[in-house]
Amino acid sequence: MLPGRGRNGRGARLSRILGTRTAWASVGDGEFFCPGCGGDRNYQRLTGRRRFAVLGVPVLPRGETGPVVECAACRRHFGTDVLDHPTTTRLSAMLRDAVHTVALAVLAAGGTCSRAALETAVTAVRAAGIDDCTQEQLQALVEALAADTGRVQGQPCGPGLAIELHEALDPLAPHLAAAGRESILLQGARIALADGPYTPAERDVLTTVGAALTICSEDVSRLLAAARTPS
Ligand SMILES: [Zn+2]
Repeated sequence: MLPGRGRNGRGARLSRILGTRTAWASVGDGEFFCPGCGGDRNYQRLTGRRRFAVLGVPVLPRGETGPVVECAACRRHFGTDVLDHPTTTRLSAMLRDAVHTVALAVLAAGGTCSRAALETAVTAVRAAGIDDCTQEQLQALVEALAADTGRVQGQPCGPGLAIELHEALDPLAPHLAAAGRESILLQGARIALADGPYTPAERDVLTTVGAALTICSEDVSRLLAAARTPS
């Protein structure tokens, strides 16, 4: 028998003669979190033009394919939905903003900032990545926020503050595991508790935080009670 005459040999030979070739063209690029090689990488967004090929030469258009996202590091292709996932850099920036916003909201709800509350807030904000955060800075921001959000009219968690919290927390919530979301709420709770039990205004803010982080109300109550009894 001649080589290449077997069933598999013929199939392989045929696909070398007849097949579909895809020519990829870049339609954009950027940075994404590659689920293939696990890290922040550059990507190219590609659309493909499929052609029926004879002897490797494209002859008949077979339509468009893609778009796909190609990792610059591992060259693997993914659906464009991978771009919905933030990069590690973006995720830490979102976390930093979230903790900062929650700290400000809780401080603003507490009225005049006590030393203890400011200290706890600074520790939390620094741990989240804003290394140069100071008590004076937070105090100044809280005063600006109070002037801005209608706290003076007796609305501790007025619409302005609630919007700020949702803006900082809503985009983050889907990308965090339950423990990560609970940790943000607990950090807020500890700031509130630094100068005594929760005031109604602080509880109000923390409830808004919990809701924005998609923590159900029973869990919010459980976590707020747990924060009160430090282990
Ligand atoms: Zn990759």
